[in-house]
Amino acid sequence: MQVGAYIRNLGYEAVASMNDTGLVIPYAVKAGLGEYARNQMVITPEFGPRLRFSKIFTNLPLAFDTPRPLGVRAFCDICTACADACPVKALPYGPPSDATPNVSAIKGVRKWTSDAEKCFGFWAKLASNCAICMRVCPFNRDYSQRRNRLWLRFALSRWRKLALRFHKARARLKPSDWWAGAA
Ligand code: SF4
Ligand code: SF4
Repeated sequence: MQVGAYIRNLGYEAVASMNDTGLVIPYAVKAGLGEYARNQMVITPEFGPRLRFSKIFTNLPLAFDTPRPLGVRAFCDICTACADACPVKALPYGPPSDATPNVSAIKGVRKWTSDAEKCFGFWAKLASNCAICMRVCPFNRDYSQRRNRLWLRFALSRWRKLALRFHKARARLKPSDWWAGAA
C-alpha cells in the first residue's frame, strides 16, 4: 500500500493488491521470483514456500524479469512429501496435468492442481488453516544457516536425489523444542 502511494505521488497510476484482483501465483512465477510446486505454492530460493506475495498494478515504466527454471519443479518430480502428509489427500501425485478434481479448480492449465474443496473443507473443520503441506516441504528451511544453504545447492542441482535422502534422514524438531529456541 505504501509503495503504491509512493508511485502515485510520482504521478503514475498504482493499485496495490494482495490476494484479490488477480491470482498472485502466476504473477510471481512470471516475475521469476520462484517456481510453482506440487504443494500449490511458489517456492523461492530465499524463503522456500514461506512467503506471501502482494502486487501493484501500475503504468510506471519498469524493467521486468522473466520466469526462470530453478530446479524446484525437478525436485517436486521426485518428492511427494506434501501429498503424503496431507490429511485429506487433497494434493496430486504424478506429473502436472490439466485434470481438474472439481468445479472449484481452474480449467485449461497444465499444472499440479489440488482438490481445493477437500483442503478448504478441512480448514473449515479445524476452524483454522492447516499448512501441513508447507511444514513438511524439504524447502521449508532457515536459509540464514549455512548447512541449509548448502542443502539448497544440492536440491536445485542434479544431486537432488541425494538432497532428498539427506532430508528424509533429518530428525524433525519437536514443536516444544522449537519454541524453546532449539532451532
Ligand atoms: S493445507 Fe492441509 S489440507 Fe490443504 S492441501 Fe495442504 S496439507 Fe492438505
Ligand atoms: S513437499 Fe516435495 S513435492 Fe511437495 S512442494 Fe515440497 S518439494 Fe515439492
